[in-house]
Amino acid sequence: MRNCRWNLNLATAAAAVTLSMLVGNVSSFVHPSICSTITRTHMSTGNNKKCNLFGSNDSNDSNDSNESNDNVAQTEDTSREKVMTFAYDMSLEPEYVKPTYPGTGNGLSGDSGEYDVIVIGSGMGGLSCGAISAKYGDKVLVLESHIKCGGSAHTFSRMHNGGKYSFEVGPSIFEGLDRPSLNPLRMIFDLLGEEMPVKTYTGLGYWTPTGYWRFPIGSQSKFETLLMEQAEDGPKAVEEWNALRKRLSTLGGSTTAVSLLNLRQDAGFLATTAGSLPFVLTHPDVFLDLPLTFDSLHKTVDTIVTVPFLRNFIDTMCIFCGFPAKGAMTAHMLYILERFFEESACYSVPIGGTCQLGETLQRGLEKFGGKLQLNAHVDQILVNDGRATGVRLKNGAIVTAKKAVVSNATPFDTVKMLGDLSNLPQACTDWKNELGKLPRHGAIMHLFLAIDATDLDLSHIEDPAHLVVQDWGRSLQDSQNLCSFFIPSLLDHTVCPEGKHVIHVYSSGGEPYEPWEKLTPGSDEYEAYKEERAKVLWEAVERCIPDVRDRLEFSIIGSPLAHEAFIRRDRGTYGMAWAAGKSAPQAGLLGAVLPFPFPNLKTPVDGLLRCGDSCFPGIGTPSAAASGAIAANTMNPVGKHLDMLKEASQNDPMYKFLDPGFLGGIYRPLVEGLTPSPELRVDQTVSTE
Ligand SMILES: Cc1cc2nc3c(=O)[nH]c(=O)nc-3n(C[C@H](O)[C@H](O)[C@H](O)COP(=O)(O)OP(=O)(O)OC[C@H]3O[C@@H](n4cnc5c(N)ncnc54)[C@H](O)[C@@H]3O)c2cc1C
Repeated sequence: MRNCRWNLNLATAAAAVTLSMLVGNVSSFVHPSICSTITRTHMSTGNNKKCNLFGSNDSNDSNDSNESNDNVAQTEDTSREKVMTFAYDMSLEPEYVKPTYPGTGNGLSGDSGEYDVIVIGSGMGGLSCGAISAKYGDKVLVLESHIKCGGSAHTFSRMHNGGKYSFEVGPSIFEGLDRPSLNPLRMIFDLLGEEMPVKTYTGLGYWTPTGYWRFPIGSQSKFETLLMEQAEDGPKAVEEWNALRKRLSTLGGSTTAVSLLNLRQDAGFLATTAGSLPFVLTHPDVFLDLPLTFDSLHKTVDTIVTVPFLRNFIDTMCIFCGFPAKGAMTAHMLYILERFFEESACYSVPIGGTCQLGETLQRGLEKFGGKLQLNAHVDQILVNDGRATGVRLKNGAIVTAKKAVVSNATPFDTVKMLGDLSNLPQACTDWKNELGKLPRHGAIMHLFLAIDATDLDLSHIEDPAHLVVQDWGRSLQDSQNLCSFFIPSLLDHTVCPEGKHVIHVYSSGGEPYEPWEKLTPGSDEYEAYKEERAKVLWEAVERCIPDVRDRLEFSIIGSPLAHEAFIRRDRGTYGMAWAAGKSAPQAGLLGAVLPFPFPNLKTPVDGLLRCGDSCFPGIGTPSAAASGAIAANTMNPVGKHLDMLKEASQNDPMYKFLDPGFLGGIYRPLVEGLTPSPELRVDQTVSTE
């Protein structure tokens, strides 16, 4: 779903990673081929193509003993305490082919060539990685399978009666894009010197079983008023809310001690994050809380929050990362706790549509000499003598990479681009198998509506973004229980003709894929199933606009098959779903000492990195962008990274903390010779000839 959450406290998580390393876990960032055997965690495997269902990786408690061998069963028992994830045995299906849809391209473009860095995919992670690498001076090529950039954040348009209607296929809620902020995506825009005009709004509408209410962002007092008005026990809710904020305040405070842009995965981090030392020294308790940062938020919430309204609110804030509080990394909530209640906090609507996120990054990429090739599907990552040396495109062209190949595709899609690894160390095969079988979220149902706004009275709502919950007793991951709708045209009049509105309604990422893959698009059965599964989406909008069907210009239902084809993510998954609580497979040594719920962005194949929302710090546009920045930093010497941080710190007073200053200078000579790490050095490159 969406994200404010995304605005999770990425920075806090960053601080925690940093701090954890400062405490001596430097080795956690060493090459995963060394680490992979150390951190192997239990992976669920299943028969044939489906495996564990309920909480297949659930670290937490007991209630996931209810296993089944059918992912679809997750629609049958969706009680609130369940942790829903889906799983497939990818190793048995290496040839799985995505459906293709008109309007997404045939992927046959792209020429041969030689670059320093090839990035596969132009999502927020890929474009951020590409643009920052180009700024570092690398010759960069970003290859995108689709005819549009932006990945999940692209938009599509339809002409209707001579008018153009544009819809986002994915994200809609963004905090911290209107001004210099701690949102890594905004930091990257500023680093690239690119602007993205937005309009702002200050609330999120909630349509719940007990009626409509509004979460007011940017005001602690207004939030307390909401708790007093809506919570079962108002004063207690306020007290518990403040107790939760207090409990997490030290970790939250670390957001301004170090940013995600300071991170890199080698010894150079000692220099780039050295600026956080004063915070660490004045807040020694941050060390005690380190494990908490990556652990499941529910462990803290359960000890403090009892009022149902507040527990529900917290779960909805977390669900943007895919899980409710149970399963969500605590860091996801830290940003919200710290920043969403500051007076300047607000949400943004990019003028021109969500595609502006990608287009802004694309401008940054091209400004520094990088190239984006659309409609260029990568069929295979070429590995030579254990090193990724380039890619083979769907049209057969071979493009070589001197320094690295970075995959912005999901882990499930990435492993399928790697051919036979049998002549490589066992660690590579283990990595491929474990990543391919990681539990993931389900797919998403969409309903795109264009309506006539004549005499439409929307004075009962204030905001374009809304959440709809049918039943608080059911899982918020249940795609028939939680959905969102977004009306960008309330603020952005460029997305449809005057006097009309566009509305994007979408389910949570828990729609099972199996029933869909058995159906043929266009068949009566398929159309009927679309209507059936989209009914809840129609009803959601009808709560706000009762006569929406009478106003219809046109409607489009997007099934998981279409979703998959448009965003090129295996089975249309919302993302990797490793519930926080214990370390993910391939998490590196950090995962051996802390419950680090992400596989490393480094891989056992030299010169192959990953970025995107399956990497730390997770799902959401800010997180995905941050992972791209971390990958770019990791590929470059620490000196260049320090220079970039210094430059970034001068973009705005609030970015001052990015520059580690003289403390960074102390560490620099100690670590300079160790960066980038050996497997990413250009002199390691082997010719593909
Ligand atoms: C419906 C929905 C709503 C959301 N709401 C929000 C929100 O409100 N706020 C928010 O911040 N986040 C939201 N998110 C999450 C956010 O959009 C994603 O986490 C983020 O955009 C993912 O970025 P990424 O870098 O992982 O790449 P992706 O977006 O997954 O992009 C990867 C790219 O790689 C390309 N690719 C894949 N394989 C190949 C190949 N073989 N060759 C070439 N190219 C390839 C794909 O075509 C794609 O363009 C939402 C997501 C969805 C789906």
